[in-house]
Amino acid sequence: MMTIMSSQFRPVLERIADEIERTPGRGAPADYIPALAACDPRSFGMAVAELDGTVYGVGDWREPFSTQSITKVFTLALDLAREGDELWEHVGREPSGNPFNSLVQLEYENGIPRNPFINAGALVVTDRLHSRTGDAAGALLTFLREESGNPALDFDEEVAASEAAHGDRNAALAHFMAAYGNIDNDIPVLLDQYFRQCSIRASCADLALATTFLARHGIRADDTRLLTLSQAKQINAIMLTCGTYDAAGDFAYRVGLPGKSGVGGGIIAVVPGRCTLCVWSPGLDERGNSVAGVAALDRFTTLTGLSVF
Ligand code: GLU
Repeated sequence: MMTIMSSQFRPVLERIADEIERTPGRGAPADYIPALAACDPRSFGMAVAELDGTVYGVGDWREPFSTQSITKVFTLALDLAREGDELWEHVGREPSGNPFNSLVQLEYENGIPRNPFINAGALVVTDRLHSRTGDAAGALLTFLREESGNPALDFDEEVAASEAAHGDRNAALAHFMAAYGNIDNDIPVLLDQYFRQCSIRASCADLALATTFLARHGIRADDTRLLTLSQAKQINAIMLTCGTYDAAGDFAYRVGLPGKSGVGGGIIAVVPGRCTLCVWSPGLDERGNSVAGVAALDRFTTLTGLSVF
């Protein structure tokens, strides 16, 4: 249940929003599909959610945006909760050092993707979750609705269709892994699930709340346990090392928190045991991370001292 209250973080967030407003240069929105290219790079929102479900934000923090690769965190959590360590026989846990949609590395590594946050790894996770639930994207959407307390969250069918129309590289990754026996479902079924997953629209408030289970060491909003303590730690660790494309080292250096970005310009971040953050600004740097988003998280941990280090 979302409670909006004056938060201890209010002055910090207002200061960050003011600084971002006065900073020129926001990068450029992703342009591989028209729906993302049309976003205004001056948009900026930031929310912080505390462990009791209190959420506070600044700027466009209630504006829904395309979550894209941020959803990879939630499908990983849902699959790991069901499957446990067997998942790691099908996907690794090392940073890739290559672009998120690289085919080359897969060939060297016999169809086992480096980690769950590059596209190949996310396709494997979605495939496995789909085999276990019969509807991976539906399970994801239900989870996000429940954790955010927002039943209005939904797929963006236009974005999903556009992803499919420009999805040759993801299709190539999926076929390539299928050739190594690392995909169970039919490729068109898997791709449909994956593109729908990426298309979900949610706001900073929704995503900060939906991420809270990672700050609560695996405990969901309704106080039931999704993940073991170790699994929550593992996901936070993979976010820190692999969550921001091949700029995860720089993100860890600047922000010092587990985080996951998406090409829609959103980034979620976790302060374990304390709070979660979500920031959104659609202008991206050359690695695919939101320029203002990384800057805002950098300022947050600098001003509050809240990082994992
Ligand atoms: N739908 C995008 C793709 O698979 C996700 C990109 C991203 O946010 O990293 O290409």
